[in-house]
Amino acid sequence: MPPASRPAALQAVKGMNDILPPDSARWEWLEGTLRDLMARYGYANIRTPIVEPTALFVRGLGEVTDIVEKEMYSFTDSMNGDALTLRPENTAGVVRAITEHNLLYDGGKRLWYIGAMFRHERPQKGRYRQFHQFGAEAMGFAGPDVDAELILMCRTLWRELGLVEGRDVRLELNSLGQIDERRAHRDALVAHFEAHAEALDEDGRRRLHTNPLRILDSKHPAMQAIVEAAPRLIDFLGPESLAHLQGVRDVLDAAGLAYRINPRLVRGMDYYNLTVFEWTTDRLGAQGTVCGGGRYDTLVEQLGGKPAPGVGFAIGLERLLLLLAEAGVAPPPEAPIAYAVLPEADLLAPAMVAIEALREAGVSVLMHAGGHSMKAQFKRADASGARFALVFGRDEVARGEVALKPLREPGAAQRNLPLAGVADWGPTLRNA
Ligand code: ATP
Ligand code: MG
Repeated sequence: MPPASRPAALQAVKGMNDILPPDSARWEWLEGTLRDLMARYGYANIRTPIVEPTALFVRGLGEVTDIVEKEMYSFTDSMNGDALTLRPENTAGVVRAITEHNLLYDGGKRLWYIGAMFRHERPQKGRYRQFHQFGAEAMGFAGPDVDAELILMCRTLWRELGLVEGRDVRLELNSLGQIDERRAHRDALVAHFEAHAEALDEDGRRRLHTNPLRILDSKHPAMQAIVEAAPRLIDFLGPESLAHLQGVRDVLDAAGLAYRINPRLVRGMDYYNLTVFEWTTDRLGAQGTVCGGGRYDTLVEQLGGKPAPGVGFAIGLERLLLLLAEAGVAPPPEAPIAYAVLPEADLLAPAMVAIEALREAGVSVLMHAGGHSMKAQFKRADASGARFALVFGRDEVARGEVALKPLREPGAAQRNLPLAGVADWGPTLRNA
């Protein structure tokens, strides 16, 4: 029992997770892979605030979307009355930033971001209230070249992570056409759903005259039949929209990337047009969408910027990490090269000077801290996964040396390194 005076321990907000070691190493590995990939594709990093004006999302995402209707963390800044929202996604923020800073003045920009997003949803596996997205946005390009580039970039990522297309991830593709095509389709859609109004759930009836396209995204089992029979937007596309879709398909086909045209794929935000796509998995149950993206050629103008096309995607990192675990993919283990064993408290200073010299020479050294017996220290050294123990024993240090003991090769000989000039051993130890 804690003493009565100790205050109750606090807990994290529901649906918001701590990312702790050793799991955080998987995050760092994934983030490193993503950073490296972006450099190879020529995408530059952009970092925008986590808090934005609420109006950005209401105007950008659309008023009748799940996110704006019921998932946003919106609040009033009590200091000045500003209406603010924790970002639920980052495309709107990126568009705001490129407009505010006139980033497209000298042509298109390819950008990527990584960070926390917030949605007030029911927490479950793969669905949290604070989650993380990696996203890429190609702004100022009309496509279909960059559309295909972004999709292929995802495939390269899956491959580098060790995921298998067809088994772990699948691509679904659709075109949402242009505004007039969507209007014609919308009229046909409303007529169809009006004729079957009795089969619609409450959400469906409400959306009938506000955002009927979103009815197609319904997961309500009883509505699947009338959704299935609804007029398909793809049948309303004119020659230009069809040519854009074909342009994307030609590249994917040539690259041998298999995909399914899913005429029901509409995505959750209103800002999309032409190309939309999702990478899905059936390893994560209802949270099966790992990556979603598409083209948003009117969003910049809608948010008050000089009209410019754009296309992008976002990957949910928690879901991707869950999928990697399901698929049995583990990052290469990270262990220190050496574990410093310090049995003599009075020899700490010369030992630490040598350890620092090794670290400066690029050798990772985990230093034992807090005393303990030689035996206990060797146990820790073993558990750390280090290749060597560096033993700062009294006799060795008196001779101006430190003992280097291989921990992973049974029978390998121990040797002594000079304390002065220990850094010269850096390359040897790094490559051992
Ligand atoms: P879902 O249909 O699963 O709710 P969504 O269409 O709302 O997904 P997007 O807005 O397209 O998702 O976001 C892109 C990606 O971000 C998703 O594919 C998913 O991987 C991830 N994501 C979205 N919401 C969450 C969440 N609440 N928790 C964890 N990841 C999420
Ligand atoms: Mg959602």
